Amino acid sequence: MSHVVSNVVQGTPRYRFAPSPTGFFHVGGARTALYNWILALQSNGVFVLRIEDTDESRNEPQWTQGIIDALAWIGIDGNDPHFEGPYFQSANAPAHVAAAHKLYESGRAYYCDLTSEQIQERAKASGKPGYDGFSRDRKLEPGPGRVLRFRVPEGVTVVHDEVRGRVEFDNATLEDFVLLRGNGSPIFNLANVVDDITMNITHVVRAEEHLPNTPKQQMLWEALAGRVPVWAHVPVLVNEQRKKLSKRRDKVALEQYRDEGVLPDAMVNYLMTLGWAPPGDVEIVDFATIVREFKLSAVNHSSAFFDIKKLNSFNGDYIRKLSPDQFVAACEPWLSGGWPEERFDRSVFLRIAPHVQTRVALLSEVPSMIDFLFLAEAPIDEAAFGKAFGTEWAVPTLRAIRDRISTGEWSADSLKSAVEAVGAEHDVKLGKLQAPLRVATTGRSVGPPLFESLEVLGREETLRRIDAALTRAG
Ligand code: GLU
Repeated sequence: MSHVVSNVVQGTPRYRFAPSPTGFFHVGGARTALYNWILALQSNGVFVLRIEDTDESRNEPQWTQGIIDALAWIGIDGNDPHFEGPYFQSANAPAHVAAAHKLYESGRAYYCDLTSEQIQERAKASGKPGYDGFSRDRKLEPGPGRVLRFRVPEGVTVVHDEVRGRVEFDNATLEDFVLLRGNGSPIFNLANVVDDITMNITHVVRAEEHLPNTPKQQMLWEALAGRVPVWAHVPVLVNEQRKKLSKRRDKVALEQYRDEGVLPDAMVNYLMTLGWAPPGDVEIVDFATIVREFKLSAVNHSSAFFDIKKLNSFNGDYIRKLSPDQFVAACEPWLSGGWPEERFDRSVFLRIAPHVQTRVALLSEVPSMIDFLFLAEAPIDEAAFGKAFGTEWAVPTLRAIRDRISTGEWSADSLKSAVEAVGAEHDVKLGKLQAPLRVATTGRSVGPPLFESLEVLGREETLRRIDAALTRAG
């Protein structure tokens, strides 16, 4: 091997995550990033973030910030000592071209002047698809419009993949692939490998869709670095129909889940259960356990179903595990807009918080559960009101409840007893009886438990709202 890179950091595993900044951050990308991060942490290695920004037609600077923010949200913290970067592929362009020239000088690559039409004609004539190596021995000099092609040797390329095992590629199926376009710009495979070599990457863990690139990249690694990295190709995520998650069809943006109020810990735990299971029967495990137990060799070969219902159920579990204080803090981004700011009282939210925590799967569901406490009037849902007051007994029983609760102790228990007593008098079940009272005071037909809600709302406001509802019901 003639081209051994001298500055390989011996001993320190170096992983990398190499997204292209072309859109929202895909949940599949988040999983790949997590794999690399966790492997770097468990080996006391390095996680390199490289932004592959060479496709100028699709890149936008805002997406780079989006990647950094999304990574930080799932705990991949740019300030952690294991984190290195971000590096930008575009900054390494001279090295890509220099590597191509080196391959040309050593005879591993050659120039070709065939147009794509000519290539197609030759393929048609021979009946063999693809480029046939026509210029291999023509010894063309570099020149405008000439592409540089890698001379693929005969034989097979064997890729040892940590997830998929031994994967063989017949070199006859890999045509002499292009390294530099006719305008001199490098092709993805070249840029990607040169960057990995420059950054002393030891492990390439990425999505399965890159596997077809791997034999070509492995040849470039051997030719340029005299070594190959450890490869691991991670199966794709699919939707309920077992189709690959797509931007057009599916909800794939990590940002969207964040904005709906998925907790980052729940997202990390859920993503890590896709194609991998922690030992034992439990799926909900903390991050330290994941870092301790995760193994690439235990990752499943088949695609993994990204099940939003299951994610929400994980999230519900994580929400319930928070202390009320933590829950209130986690809700912070959702606590504005629904009510006049000056009416919001954190201590009031804190009192009802334990009852809200058990009833939501997403933090974005919280405002509509607590807004009745911070609005001047109950936010009446007309349909719910009509339904709740659509019986003969609704108004008389609500009046009777009002009378009973206007004096005496004010607690969830005493409120419940009062309503039960009215139910017994009027022969209406407690469950039914709650409906008009709930709509009158909270505006809605669903919410946190009613008597606890009223305890927090307070007697004066509860009575006032009941009076308003009785007037409205006429
Ligand atoms: N930039 C490529 C992508 O976003 C990743 C290439 C790699 O991981 O090797 O799909």
